[in-house]
Amino acid sequence: MSEERIINIISNRNYESRKTKKNLIYKLRKNGFEPSETYSDKAELNICIGGDGAFLRAIHRNAFPEIPFVGINTGHLGFFQELLPNEIDSFIRRYKAQDYQVEKIYMVDATVCTKKKCFYLTGINEIVIKGVRSKVVHLEVFINDNHLQRFSGDGLIVSTPSGSTAYNFSAGGSIVYPSLESLQITPLAPINSSAYRSLPNSAIIPGDAIIQIKPELRYENSILVLNDGMEFKYDSIVSIDLTMSDKKIYKLNFSKDMYWNNLKSKFL
Ligand code: NAP
Ligand code: MN
Repeated sequence: MSEERIINIISNRNYESRKTKKNLIYKLRKNGFEPSETYSDKAELNICIGGDGAFLRAIHRNAFPEIPFVGINTGHLGFFQELLPNEIDSFIRRYKAQDYQVEKIYMVDATVCTKKKCFYLTGINEIVIKGVRSKVVHLEVFINDNHLQRFSGDGLIVSTPSGSTAYNFSAGGSIVYPSLESLQITPLAPINSSAYRSLPNSAIIPGDAIIQIKPELRYENSILVLNDGMEFKYDSIVSIDLTMSDKKIYKLNFSKDMYWNNLKSKFL
């Protein structure tokens, strides 16, 4: 008896995605694969249908699996998504021939410690520290225990390389090639006046560094933490440590020029 080749299909619910899913399942079965609409740990591949948001949610909901992903874009942008709905045939052909590369996606870990306990988050795009009710935040920023700045403004983004084209890019941060092991700290509306001084531009930090952010004591309850757009609020935050995660996500890559083509076609 031959081994089953299970492929998980994770799709959002919009019309285009459902249509694509039906077609994909039909074609995978015809090619001897076993598509599964409920997440199986025994699968060899995860196919995510939707946009970047669907891709991010598929990873969070399935606890950062080691099974590689490939995305079919039915979203607005789909920067993570490698394929279009009309490319399913060539995808199956190339997948069967193992004609692809596996790309690593680096993530960011945050340890949020309050006076009572610590909480752990992992972000694929970024972790953002902001003020509640749009208040100005005042944050002490340390890199490897070296004090860098007392930041005042709307907040700080700590972005991964893959996340650099998301919120980070809108905030004026740089685009970082996904294989560069690094994190980027990007200010959101930094205040620069005779009262406050904050770095006006982003800084790219080596992948083994620890970024520590401490809210000023009287502001410890006015901090929000956003993980890939999902909002978290903690009582009495003492410190937030951010590092590149040991966990990694894997994504199939069918063209080495995809990244540059994507940048041009999706951002210019
Ligand atoms: P969303 O509101 O649909 O996301 C905003 C846009 O960001 C969408 O067009 C999304 O693509 C795109 N996007 C997500 N990840 C990307 C990446 N790595 N590179 C390039 N573009 C990317 O919400 P969502 O789909 O759940 O995405 C959550 C993300 O939104 C957050 O992680 C954050 O990066 C981003 N965001 C951006 C801003 C801003 O730019 N001012 C503000 C808040 C949050 P799709 O259309 O394919 O989904
Ligand atoms: Mn979206």
